[in-house]
Amino acid sequence: MSDQNESKSAADLSRRNFLGVSSTALATAAFAGITAHAQEMQDTRKAEKDISVSNPGQENKPLLVENPSSNMPPPTDHGDIGPVWYSFDLVHKRVEEGGWTHEVNSIVLPTSKDLAGVNMRLTAGSFRELHWHTADEWAIMLDGNARVTVMNPDGTMFIDDVSKGDLWLFPAGFPHSIQGLRPNGCEFLLVFDEGDFSEDGTFLLSETIAHTPRNMLAKNFGLDKEVIAKLVRKEELYIFPADLPLSLAQDKAAIGGQRVESPIKYTFKMAGMAPTRKTPGGEVRIVDSRNFPVPKNVAAALVTLKPGALRELHWHPNASEWQFWLAGKGRMTIIMNEGRARTMDFNANDVGFVPRVATHAIENTGDTDCIFLEMFKADQFVDVSLNNWLRRLPPEAVTAHVNLNQEQIAKIPSEKELVIPG
Ligand code: MN
Ligand code: MN
Repeated sequence: MSDQNESKSAADLSRRNFLGVSSTALATAAFAGITAHAQEMQDTRKAEKDISVSNPGQENKPLLVENPSSNMPPPTDHGDIGPVWYSFDLVHKRVEEGGWTHEVNSIVLPTSKDLAGVNMRLTAGSFRELHWHTADEWAIMLDGNARVTVMNPDGTMFIDDVSKGDLWLFPAGFPHSIQGLRPNGCEFLLVFDEGDFSEDGTFLLSETIAHTPRNMLAKNFGLDKEVIAKLVRKEELYIFPADLPLSLAQDKAAIGGQRVESPIKYTFKMAGMAPTRKTPGGEVRIVDSRNFPVPKNVAAALVTLKPGALRELHWHPNASEWQFWLAGKGRMTIIMNEGRARTMDFNANDVGFVPRVATHAIENTGDTDCIFLEMFKADQFVDVSLNNWLRRLPPEAVTAHVNLNQEQIAKIPSEKELVIPG
């Protein structure tokens, strides 16, 4: 903070000298902020040419190698925009017989108030036990196969099998389950529409049974007290091994077939979906209430960038963005108001966060495809393209703001590309 103040006043002075006026009235806070930033950029560039950026003391080498943009930020970075990165590889992993779970929520990424994520593994046959919760649950299968069930409040039941690339949405309060299938169970990502959501805070069938007075249970179920006394297998099952289920058709028939079948389909096969947008730089699949009507509060875009490609400069008017990185590596710059900007590197299993309406771009810095999810607490995916905007303005208006002539402006893509080849 004091560094910033120092460079601010230094920039102020040099500006007044340059103008040959001493009036402090001219030194508005906004102008001082911009010149301070220009000074910082100059200083960084100078420092890069001498030994000023050297770091002779201790350093966490693996972390620095993984995060070059944090170690030596581009000179355009400035100030502090709060945390925008975390990784599933840094949070506690709850390991149980049958699988494991870990979560990135506002405890570790406090800027994300809208969404939280859970990454879970279930071995073949193992259950994430029957439960429900206060948040909507959006999910994508990352590997393997699972059987999912969810019941509507009217008693109709949805059962389906999901595999890699499939999505599901379980509405808040609707009881559901997930069970790993052959050959190797599954691993999936859950996204909840509450930033402080925790998988430890769900409502479990096992706890519900364990904490209801026995006479109430006996009356409720119409069962003998001797049966009730032995009802609790374990106070909290959470994740536990079980036998593999019957076939989907057998399970559906066993519970009453079409008579009890849910009229709503809670799963979505994203793997079979054609890209919403495909360019030589990659592709984007947008899944929101327009093509998967069940999620009312969660919209998603699965982005694939080829090496060198750029997810173009854009922002989202309706929500902040919570990212999950599935593959490859890249770097994202987020540009905020007051001249603040931050560049961070991302790898598979990382989580990114972009504040609402903040401009951002993502570049594939690896030599393989980089794949990430852009998630929003919104019914629709909405983004504004900077290119698109500049090309919709009268060229004179653009020239008045940036040093480009009409010919140069005409080279900027006029439509929203989403993904620009490298
Ligand atoms: Mn759940
Ligand atoms: Mn975005």
